[in-house]
Amino acid sequence: MADKFDVIVIGAGPGGYVSAIRAAQMGLKAAVVEKWISEDGKPVFGGTCLNVGCIPSKALLEASHKFVEAKHDFDGMGIQAGDVSMDVKKMMARKDTIVKNLTGGVAGLLKGNGVTAIQGTGKVVSSKQVEVTDQDGKATTYDADNIVVAAGSVPVEIPPTPLVDGMVVNSTGALEFQETPKRLGVIGAGIIGLELGSVWNRLGSEVTVLEAMDDFLPMVDGAIAKETQKLLKKQGLDIKLGARVTGSEVKGEEVVVKYTDAKGEQEVTFDKLIVCVGRKPYTEGVIAEGVGIETDQRGFIQVDDQCRTSVPSVYAIGDCVRGPMLAHKASEEGVMVADIIAGHKAEMNYDAIPNVIYTFPEVAWVGLTEQEAKAKGIEVKTGSFPFAASGRAMANNATEGQAKIIADAETDRVLGMHIVGQHAGEMVAQGVIALEFGSSAEDLALTCYAHPTMSEAVHEAALAVEGHAIHMVNRKKK
Ligand code: FAD
Ligand code: NAD
Repeated sequence: MADKFDVIVIGAGPGGYVSAIRAAQMGLKAAVVEKWISEDGKPVFGGTCLNVGCIPSKALLEASHKFVEAKHDFDGMGIQAGDVSMDVKKMMARKDTIVKNLTGGVAGLLKGNGVTAIQGTGKVVSSKQVEVTDQDGKATTYDADNIVVAAGSVPVEIPPTPLVDGMVVNSTGALEFQETPKRLGVIGAGIIGLELGSVWNRLGSEVTVLEAMDDFLPMVDGAIAKETQKLLKKQGLDIKLGARVTGSEVKGEEVVVKYTDAKGEQEVTFDKLIVCVGRKPYTEGVIAEGVGIETDQRGFIQVDDQCRTSVPSVYAIGDCVRGPMLAHKASEEGVMVADIIAGHKAEMNYDAIPNVIYTFPEVAWVGLTEQEAKAKGIEVKTGSFPFAASGRAMANNATEGQAKIIADAETDRVLGMHIVGQHAGEMVAQGVIALEFGSSAEDLALTCYAHPTMSEAVHEAALAVEGHAIHMVNRKKK
């Protein structure tokens, strides 16, 4: 007779492993089922995020940025570094070590918190039963009072660009290149396209990004998106908007890509092609027919605001349900669901989830854009401050970008914060807290910020909402 649990979580990504740990902390008997196994047959924890997503991409972004700094910026600071070169294989090995340490760390956390880790593919076979099929094909059924599905997502594939080993790759393949391609094509100017395009551009690839939409980063405030586009272009990313890819063909060592734009049919040749046109839920086969849990046409499991499915004892979280596909969103949902199962009241504020694009400079935002607020009929006032006027930004050699705050014209409540600048991903936490606490722009303006910090730009942007920025001549004065 297999063990019975209070909670079984399917999937050990940042949604699932966090949910299982929280459930155990709440005194529940918890298990997590993970199907990913290493070459030596051990379960791999951490999901997309730790293995082929957030962490490895950031390891490459950091290394490639330091390379650019050493090559181009050190001299101006008086540092003589001589000829700087990049050993791509060593950069990759460092990334692999970071991933190994972190995933091993999750295994330790699960064990330390008393979570039972079960290797195998989990399937919800009834409202309170999970069947797990291990790597030898042996199926075991476990009983659980509650089930959390955290199966995550996988890259979308499109018919015009079928993957071809090592030549036409998705994001996972693009994290594995062992040398810098001379000509790199990227399909999709979304977050992955800009991050991975930046990595290889910094290491010397000629990068062309083909984006089907006419707008660049439509989810970011218009002024910030425009400045970001300009900065990335200056770095050498050739971003072609309104370019819909229609076909690709591998010819020897080259990939020929066809696309259409306003001028008609175009053709371009690359050495490697990265396809990053979005991700889709990884839910096929996770729920047995007849359990009564609904998925939508794209495979997302249908849930309410508290991640309950249509079956009361089954929850679903993270990338396999609606909302942004972000690790921190998955983890927060995991915590919320564990707390609800433990009998506590819990909810999430989906309006205050931060987003960060880890280019240089970083792009980070939370809440509404000026354009979204206006489209909703909200009258707004805004304040912006350029990093060019920040002493710390000058000292840091990072004067590009700006911080912008969008506030309700009537109540002064902060509705959004959008930043492009060095460490924007750290600074945006102030916007998240402002939204969570219902702060006004004046609250931020009356707060004492340490000097000299990049965050002073947020302070000045808050002051600028009323035309009172100190280190800038304000466009409007009161
Ligand atoms: P996943 O991380 O996908 O984990 C799901 C787990 O479930 C996997 O381990 C899978 O093997 C397992 N599983 C699936 N089905 C079963 C089954 N039937 N039985 C057992 N196990 C199963 N997000 C950020 O917030 N910040 C970033 O900087 C960032 N960078 C990214 C960079 C890249 C290149 C990519 C691809 C993604 C990035 N993301 C980032 C997105 C982030 O990785 C995901 O949002 C996050 O991993 C989702 O977590 P999850 O737990 O829902 O799913
Ligand atoms: P995305 O949705 O961010 O961008 C995909 C882009 O591809 C879109 O702009 C779309 O218009 C374009 N596109 C689609 N079909 C096309 C075609 N035929 N030709 C040209 N362009 C086409 O998706 P992504 O970049 O693959 O990222 C997937 C998910 O992973 C995102 O939801 C994101 O949240 C998450 N992620 C987050 C981070 C982060 O938080 N820093 C980093 C990487 C990934």
